[in-house]
Amino acid sequence: MRRKISIFGATGSIGQNTVDLIQRQGGVENYNIVALSGGENINLLARQAIDLHADIAITAYLEKLPELKMLLLNTGIETAAGAEAIAESATRPIDWGMSAIVGAAGLNASFGIVRQGAVLALANKESIVCAGQLLISEVLKNNATLLPVDSEHSAIFQALQNNEPKSVERIILTASGGPFKDYSLEQMQQVTPAQAAVHPKWDMGQRISIDSASMFNKALEVIEVKHLFSCQSKQIEVIIHPQSIIHSMVGFADGAMFAHLGAPDMRGPIGYALNHPNRNPLPLARLDFAKLSQLTFQAPDPARFPALRLAYRVMETEGLSGAVFNASKEAAMDAFLEGKTGFLDMAMLVEKALDDPYLNEQIGGDVFSLDAITKIDLAARRFVNVLIENG
Ligand code: NDP
Ligand code: MG
Repeated sequence: MRRKISIFGATGSIGQNTVDLIQRQGGVENYNIVALSGGENINLLARQAIDLHADIAITAYLEKLPELKMLLLNTGIETAAGAEAIAESATRPIDWGMSAIVGAAGLNASFGIVRQGAVLALANKESIVCAGQLLISEVLKNNATLLPVDSEHSAIFQALQNNEPKSVERIILTASGGPFKDYSLEQMQQVTPAQAAVHPKWDMGQRISIDSASMFNKALEVIEVKHLFSCQSKQIEVIIHPQSIIHSMVGFADGAMFAHLGAPDMRGPIGYALNHPNRNPLPLARLDFAKLSQLTFQAPDPARFPALRLAYRVMETEGLSGAVFNASKEAAMDAFLEGKTGFLDMAMLVEKALDDPYLNEQIGGDVFSLDAITKIDLAARRFVNVLIENG
């Protein structure tokens, strides 16, 4: 039987790597592709839909629909556009779904996959940062399976093996340190979006690359760990490891540490989630330890990377603070990309959102309500936009 799958964010970095693995693993012979979603990149979306014989191709943008329809004319592939169409297509029955839209815009796809009891391959970390408790409760309620695709979380998932959660003492997330690892505060104040979007080790989408440069990405990942592996914030540590060979580590009560090592290639964690519980061959470069010669580590500097401190604050506050954190960070990045604010100002804007009394009133809202999460997300974005407009 061909496995039924959908890929949300198929045209992105994770999406394209997922398509690559599916093609290598027999393509349409082995997989029945239900939905593929994209955004601006209509040509690629149409190409993928044709190559993989998808049932439906959806673009996030209504104005892109005519172009998509034109490209898929007479192919028998259904087309649709808009956030609601993506949400609807995520309810179409599948066995496995990749959630790889960037940002909080990816929440509906994650929930659609989980609510039908399928396997959720979760790249969209924002789903878990904004709505972690709700997502995990829906996984349990619907007997779904959540497999993390973020490389660190896939590493932790694999390093945990079948050990009891209570035997876990510490979880150590590795971080590359990004392009500004050795920059001074003054240098960081000046960096441009183009400089921030170039990652030294991983080939990723623009937004996550910028988040890596500010370590907001690691901040999101720390929160992600807390929800995924239900541990306490004091058990989670971050260490800079510039070679990006150790993808994360788990320390157990007896002092033993398990690390996951591999080439920095997202097809590792994506392939793990695609083939789980089996381990099938993957096209990754193999490690040559003689050539590697050394693996180094250094503690992150809290003054230059304030995002990490904010993540621990979010974990202490709980409630809907993860949604405020993510939405204010997304709005601050929009402003940075538009040249309206500086690189280091992003953390300052997020901290102001976390301090705001009005947003704090709503942080105590219902963590199990997607409406409450959407509402506070919008309020946090508005808050940041007003701050920026007022200089
Ligand atoms: P990309 O920017 O490369 O791709 C994002 C995808 O989402 C594209 O298909 C894009 O379409 C689509 N998209 C963009 N905006 C919207 C929107 N508003 N609504 C619906 N779809 C939209 O991102 P990545 O692949 O790098 O990242 C995807 C997710 O995976 C993120 O949450 C990221 O944090 C996470 N992740 C990524 C890693 C990586 O190595 N890239 C590693 C770990 C996690 P289009 O391009 O056609 O406009
Ligand atoms: Mg990661």
